[in-house]
Amino acid sequence: MHKPHVAIIGAGPAGLMAALASARAGARVEIFEQMPSPARKFLMAGRGGLNLTHSEPLDQFVTRYGAARDWLRTILARFTPQQMRDFAAAYGEETFVGSSGRVFPKSFKASPLLRAWLRDLQQLGVVLHLRHSFTGFDDTGALRFATPQGEREVVADACVMALGGASWSRLGSDGRWLPVLQEAGLAVAPLQPANCGFDIAWSPFMEAHAGEPLKSIELQACGHVLRGECVVTQYGLEGGAIYALSSVLREEIARAGFATLQIDLRPDVSVEILAQKLARPRGKQSLSSHLRKSAGLTSAGAAVLRESGPLPSDAQELAQRIKSVCLRLVRAHGLERAISTAGGVQLSQLDEGLMVKSRPGLFLAGEMLDWEAPTGGYLLQACFASGLVAGEAAAAFAARQSPP
Ligand SMILES: Cc1cc2nc3c(=O)[nH]c(=O)nc-3n(C[C@H](O)[C@H](O)[C@H](O)COP(=O)(O)OP(=O)(O)OC[C@H]3O[C@@H](n4cnc5c(N)ncnc54)[C@H](O)[C@@H]3O)c2cc1C
Repeated sequence: MHKPHVAIIGAGPAGLMAALASARAGARVEIFEQMPSPARKFLMAGRGGLNLTHSEPLDQFVTRYGAARDWLRTILARFTPQQMRDFAAAYGEETFVGSSGRVFPKSFKASPLLRAWLRDLQQLGVVLHLRHSFTGFDDTGALRFATPQGEREVVADACVMALGGASWSRLGSDGRWLPVLQEAGLAVAPLQPANCGFDIAWSPFMEAHAGEPLKSIELQACGHVLRGECVVTQYGLEGGAIYALSSVLREEIARAGFATLQIDLRPDVSVEILAQKLARPRGKQSLSSHLRKSAGLTSAGAAVLRESGPLPSDAQELAQRIKSVCLRLVRAHGLERAISTAGGVQLSQLDEGLMVKSRPGLFLAGEMLDWEAPTGGYLLQACFASGLVAGEAAAAFAARQSPP
């Protein structure tokens, strides 16, 4: 009997989830991965503690996906944040909710979860082919791979591609699928950095502060306000609060050529109180120690303040400046170092099972699709959920191609 055959390309979280869903649905599953080992970016996420998902209610959760929220709503309903936690627990990785509402495995690692997952796939009969780089389709639609043994062609009843974005390309997702899928007739929005740092034309003075955090600050850009922290780098600013604003900052730079970021370095202190403290006689103190002692600024905070232009001598004006430091962001700091990728295959080309409407039998999942989200577990949640939906639909499609 010919068992429905599903080929999965890409062994990141979306591909592995698609493989699991297809195999559980009864398909014969083969995974093709171009790297010598699977899920390298997932393992890298584990280095930061592996923020698997977020504990907020689903209605609020879906709003984090911006323009793609309605599209993702039904997909996330098929694999919810609670199901993500159950999934991890079933592989021996209990999770907990951190103070920010983010969900992590208690081990703060990705490797034990990945090991258990791969073992399960193996027991289900899933075969993982490493060093297989998808290069395109032949005239009959067969999948072509470059392997160390030369070119190989694979014919399957259905295929799920989960090839990732294009950041951290050394981990495998290099975006080289883009021209191949464009040539196959798919519309792809340009790949752009998301959850990334931004370049600022710092003075050479800032080099000494690279790596220093700006904690408990309030950031404002394009009508968005949030509290958090970021890190001074040689090129500009990066870190959680900047990542959270990255999509609006990126769009503003595309529109206006630059974006203005306003930082309140002391959001919990009023201008009046700050002005009173700054009005105290400075004596022989340097400006930096005056700012540190009177206004509670760190050395990085004082340095960023100075980057915003000549400082007023009047205490009231200086207090106002501390609460609204304006910085000019000139560009996103490149796709390579971004946490994730915006853009990708346009969602309108997919049906509800994530099959490409113009190419029956080809399903897509994960970060290669045109959605983006901030950090907080939203990225992995959407990759897992879309992998599950595509994997189940691919198995059903394959079964229809090869009736018992
Ligand atoms: C440093 C870092 C930390 C992160 N931390 C978190 C976090 O804590 N929480 C969170 O939600 N998200 C986090 N992310 C993001 C998250 O890891 C990604 O969104 C997720 O891995 C994307 O899953 P994916 O399966 O779509 O793609 P990927 O994980 O990128 O996997 C795609 C796979 O496809 C393979 N591939 C690509 N092209 C080909 C080809 N032509 N042929 C064969 N194989 C191919 C790649 O080698 C890769 O293995 C982090 C990302 C980074 C870089």
